[in-house]
Amino acid sequence: MSGVPTVTLNNGVAMPQLGFGVFQVPEDETVAAVTSALETGYRSIDTAAIYGNEAGVGIALEKSGIPHDELFVTTKVWNADQGYDKTLAAFDASLEKLRLERIDLYLIHWPTPARELYVDTWKALNKLLGDGRVRAIGVSNFQESHLRRVIDEVGVVPSVNQIELHPLLQQEKLRAVHAELGVRTEAWSPLGQGGDLLKNPVLAEIAAKHGRSTAQVVLRWHLQLGNVVIPKSVTPERIAENFDVFGFELDAADIERIATLNQNGRIGPDPDEFNAA
Ligand code: NDP
Repeated sequence: MSGVPTVTLNNGVAMPQLGFGVFQVPEDETVAAVTSALETGYRSIDTAAIYGNEAGVGIALEKSGIPHDELFVTTKVWNADQGYDKTLAAFDASLEKLRLERIDLYLIHWPTPARELYVDTWKALNKLLGDGRVRAIGVSNFQESHLRRVIDEVGVVPSVNQIELHPLLQQEKLRAVHAELGVRTEAWSPLGQGGDLLKNPVLAEIAAKHGRSTAQVVLRWHLQLGNVVIPKSVTPERIAENFDVFGFELDAADIERIATLNQNGRIGPDPDEFNAA
């Protein structure tokens, strides 16, 4: 897939390590943004039912003429659709909007633990996997307790946990749990949503040393940790910049300096507390 390395998920499926996220891309800008990403060389696209832009993703994929077996499409079941039957119906709706026959990776978007539905939802994802309608299944925003519970109660280990992760929130404990369980770590908001992180002076120094941008240094850090990353941009120059991260390498001193930036700085909600439907 366009020279992007792949990681092998715990069921043998290959997933590109770098993909393109479309959270907060307005529906009417989605076709242009995804088309720009596909033209740049991205083959993995990360959307979700709640983003309201699956239809735009579907149009861009179809328009590209790229065969689905060269693409990797992720979408997610929203909180309001959790539960066995509702999840199966939500999946059908997503598939139709995306104009696809199957999804490559289907995720539970949030555990919403107080709602007590994520185990049944996980059973529905296993049904979709068994029926060949998805190539891999996983979760998002799951804490260790949620991961262990679905594994204990359903007996199937999620292939991926997509979590908030960037140099200000490095998630060492959860990454260690993933390594123990065989769950691949996928980083959302890998660039810290383009805020203060990209102005960080330590990252700026490392970027100057390599003749790269701070965004490229952050993405390189993720890749060298083994994370899957899905940076978002609607700006063609940044879409290209974020894809051009395979021609340099951070050294051990750079990695050590970036390790000092962790401050458990979450941008998004705490997954133990977020129960919105
Ligand atoms: P990112 O960390 O990818 O940052 C995106 C922001 O950074 C945008 O404002 C973008 O601006 C800016 N940006 C992108 N590239 C550069 C660059 N090279 N230089 C400077 N600024 C840049 O944030 P997201 O929250 O979008 O996370 C990425 C993806 O993760 C999402 O799109 C979504 O697919 C997924 N996600 C999943 C969540 C979950 O709960 N599972 C939650 C949040 C995100 P512009 O677009 O204007 O160019």
